[in-house]
Amino acid sequence: MKIHEYQGKEILKKFGVAVPRSMAVFSVDEAVAAAEELGGSVWVVKAQIHAGGRGKGGGVKVAKSIAEVREKASQILGMQLVTHQTSPAGQKVRRLLIEEGADIRKELYVGMVVDRVTQRVALMASSEGGMDIEEVAAHTPEKIFKVFIDPQTGLSTADADDTARKIGIPDASVAQARSVFQGLYQAFWETDSSLAEINPLILTGDGQVIALDAKLNFDDNALFRHPDIVALRDLDEEDPAEIEASKFDLSYISLDGNIGCLVNGAGLAMATMDVIKLFGGEPANFLDVGGGATTEKVTEAFKIMLTNPDLKAILVNIFGGIMKCDTIAEGVIAASKAVSLKVPLVVRMKGTNEELGKEILARSGLPIITANNMTEAGQKVVAAARGESVQ
Ligand code: ADP
Ligand code: MG
Repeated sequence: MKIHEYQGKEILKKFGVAVPRSMAVFSVDEAVAAAEELGGSVWVVKAQIHAGGRGKGGGVKVAKSIAEVREKASQILGMQLVTHQTSPAGQKVRRLLIEEGADIRKELYVGMVVDRVTQRVALMASSEGGMDIEEVAAHTPEKIFKVFIDPQTGLSTADADDTARKIGIPDASVAQARSVFQGLYQAFWETDSSLAEINPLILTGDGQVIALDAKLNFDDNALFRHPDIVALRDLDEEDPAEIEASKFDLSYISLDGNIGCLVNGAGLAMATMDVIKLFGGEPANFLDVGGGATTEKVTEAFKIMLTNPDLKAILVNIFGGIMKCDTIAEGVIAASKAVSLKVPLVVRMKGTNEELGKEILARSGLPIITANNMTEAGQKVVAAARGESVQ
């Protein structure tokens, strides 16, 4: 699960990380009122969306008067912000953060992820902040310093201070950098984060170390023990099809292609997408209906796939184990009727009650294309999506 920058900063602040004074707002008038309340002479108006790269996309702007705050807030609020992390259509800006302008001497980077190889939280820090850290990692990896943190002891003072010095923090500010790193680790650990990033972490003119941006992602599997974090969820930032799918306990991820996939089992779902790609098609989604799907669940899955206007064909690929082929067949027929299906449908099923399932499909009178194996299923659905006639 993702949250907004302002929510991330509130969490970091609780763990002792210094952040600029700021206020989150939902309207231009509120933006002006927030700037007046914050005081000072320079403010930064920041779009709040669940994607980075906002600065380059025109979603972060400096204002040097209250009139300018109004002007920038009007420009950014409601805009379709396109960054390298959004879809090409961008994301609509519904919230802003009004923040005091910081006196930036140097932009640095600090991030944390779970490192699977060492089974530890990895602290990564660099003097090259403010830009794409992926670029730094690709071209100048020697500028990224890593510490694999021992869960027994946490981030030691020695490691924190050493990291601070390596990224160019002057001696007088090392203690502040240490409390940022240790606070970030504490926040990461206690909130069950999967990713935490401060980019940029800045050194100010007077030697303070401050988090100017904040990105926290959380492990969905641990959300049950963090109701306070779940409360921060912003459904406007999530894919409507994925939200709908999560209500029915379906694992659904929207993709850019035009061939819908309904599969049971994540491995088979991956293999199904591979087969579609192998024959030159593009999957419209990943969908695992799970082992114990009911007719109702299959119907919902169908409806969700069909909300995609780009959809040109559907491939149902089922291995009948716990999930029986006749259940899927009933679901497919019920769904096709409920939504008056207009795109070609290819079904491949194997396993428990396979014959019964095929018989139910044949008896339905619906123009369902059957396939006997993965290759045939892939070839047929790709051809059908291209508008070729397939038997
Ligand atoms: P994003 O990573 O989405 O582009 P950031 O929050 O990192 O958004 O902001 C982009 C850039 O804008 C920062 O690297 C920094 O140079 C500048 N910036 C952001 N917030 C402030 C602030 N409060 N004061 C001064 N400059 C800021
Ligand atoms: Mg940033």
